[in-house]
Amino acid sequence: MVKIYIDPGHGGTDPGAVGNGLQEKNVNLDLALRLRNILLNDYRGVEVKMSRTTDVTKTLSQRTNEANAWGADYFVSIHINAFNGTARGYEDFIHDSLTPSSRTSQMRNVMHEEIIKVNNMINRGKKSANFHVLRETRMPAILTENGFIDNAQDAALIRDPNWLQTVAKGHADGIARIFDLTPVSQVFRVFVDGVQVGAFQNSQNTLNAVEQALPTAQRIIVERT
Ligand SMILES: [Zn+2]
Repeated sequence: MVKIYIDPGHGGTDPGAVGNGLQEKNVNLDLALRLRNILLNDYRGVEVKMSRTTDVTKTLSQRTNEANAWGADYFVSIHINAFNGTARGYEDFIHDSLTPSSRTSQMRNVMHEEIIKVNNMINRGKKSANFHVLRETRMPAILTENGFIDNAQDAALIRDPNWLQTVAKGHADGIARIFDLTPVSQVFRVFVDGVQVGAFQNSQNTLNAVEQALPTAQRIIVERT
């Protein structure tokens, strides 16, 4: 089992960055929950722990202690930036003591590539800093800054649920590549009384087929293999 610790930054009494009617803590949580769901629904052999799943206050030490005690394989901290309203774009951080050949740095290269591929933002590059969550974690750690909440153009993306889903998918694609996670089949096969009546990639179509069979069927099996 690969253990991924997802850390939606801030929360509770700490809103993080604010701007354009948005609070960073809420966006971070939304993005992080989407990432968790993609990892758990679409891949095998992955476990997820989150620093928070609701709007609660939690210190940085609580977060890193928890990830260390759990023995996480990767610490992924999710944030949204702010500056002066004019800065825009995506950037990510690893600890500033790490060399380019370090595993954490190579993992970051993969994350960066997968996120930039889909996020439709200016690429501000790969950065390093002495942040608590990067320094105090005993496993590789990355902190992603997904646009600037106080910039109108970035905020237009940040408030779009489709963009959040896409960026969560970018994070998941990076994690899946790094740990070589096996995807779960997205095909649902519906068997009615032993006969396959359909194979669907869409869960609504699957449910429709089940509903149609329900009045007369003795036995309905939905298989996702
Ligand atoms: Zn933040």
